[in-house]
Amino acid sequence: MMAGLDIDGSSGEGGGQILRTSLSLSLLTGQPFFLHDIRAHRETPGLRPQHLRAVTAAAQLGDAEVNGAQVGSRELSFCPRRFGRHLDGGRYHFDIGTAGSTSLVLQTVLPALLCASGPSTITVQGGTYNTKAPPFDFLDRVFAPLLRRLGVGLELRMLQPGFYPQGGGTIVAELTPPAELRAMPRLDLLQRGSVVRRQATAVLARLPEHIATRELDTLRSLLDWPPGCFSVRSIARSRSPGNVVLVAIESEQVCELVSCVGERGVPAEEVARSAAEEALVYLRADVPVGEHLADQLILPLALGQGGRYRTLPPSLHTRTQADIVSRFLPHVDIALIDESPHVTRIEVTVGDPA
Ligand code: ATP
Repeated sequence: MMAGLDIDGSSGEGGGQILRTSLSLSLLTGQPFFLHDIRAHRETPGLRPQHLRAVTAAAQLGDAEVNGAQVGSRELSFCPRRFGRHLDGGRYHFDIGTAGSTSLVLQTVLPALLCASGPSTITVQGGTYNTKAPPFDFLDRVFAPLLRRLGVGLELRMLQPGFYPQGGGTIVAELTPPAELRAMPRLDLLQRGSVVRRQATAVLARLPEHIATRELDTLRSLLDWPPGCFSVRSIARSRSPGNVVLVAIESEQVCELVSCVGERGVPAEEVARSAAEEALVYLRADVPVGEHLADQLILPLALGQGGRYRTLPPSLHTRTQADIVSRFLPHVDIALIDESPHVTRIEVTVGDPA
């Protein structure tokens, strides 16, 4: 058995991403790991139900020997018995049981299933619109199209939206792995090209209409786009009431989607303002890749032939992701090069594994 990697969960971002990325890469490489100080920088450190579900999902795929898989646990050891090309495609169903993010559980198992022997259908139940996690629309419109460019077959559906606190959302991913993972083409995303479509949407589930009206008023005043760019999407069937503002910017080369989830006690104007300001920062920087996509692209590029992209100054999530990926894949070099105070170029260079 390979010696396990010792991973410090309090390094960098010190959140759930370190755990999820370690799980994905352990399943891909067979490298066991011991993670301590899990989510040390969060108000409620240790494993929360959504993190635990990522662990049990990964353990199921890799028939892993696991210690510390309980809610609240601050240490975890994970040793897969099955990994890489020995992972099985098939039908997987993961119910988080709370409103925890379905996107993040899907993103944990997805890299590993890229290497599996056949296609998979992955169903995840929980929340689809969570603060500090990719909303379903981001996965569908931003993340999945880029994986398709890498030769991955990936179609996503949201059967049911899920908001905090009841969740009950369901997403389904139909995944066909590329013929050979390491032969996935390079991805160069240096320019975004002209903006071809802009859309700002106030999504409302079982909440009074004035919330969406106030959000659209704020979005119109800050974004100054033509009237046809603004719309309301009403969701009738949702266990919990909920609200999210989605701002999509489609360019010739890439789509970006920024979002802000409405929360009790946060005025609708603030929710809309936060999304609009993030959209304006992205538009002004004239880069193809936004803040969140920047951390999420590192892993898929590291599995294929690498690539490079221009983005905003890297978040701590991006720096942390680069560190964890380099720990598991020492033959991959990830360079964060500042082109200006507003623009960073990320270069993922894949060498020969030892
Ligand atoms: P914790 O509870 O420990 O914060 P977490 O499991 O919620 O952990 P993080 O470590 O914070 O996870 O990672 C969140 C991930 O979600 C990151 O990849 C981040 O880029 C992504 N993300 C956060 N907000 C958005 C958003 N609005 N759009 C797209 N992706 C997002």
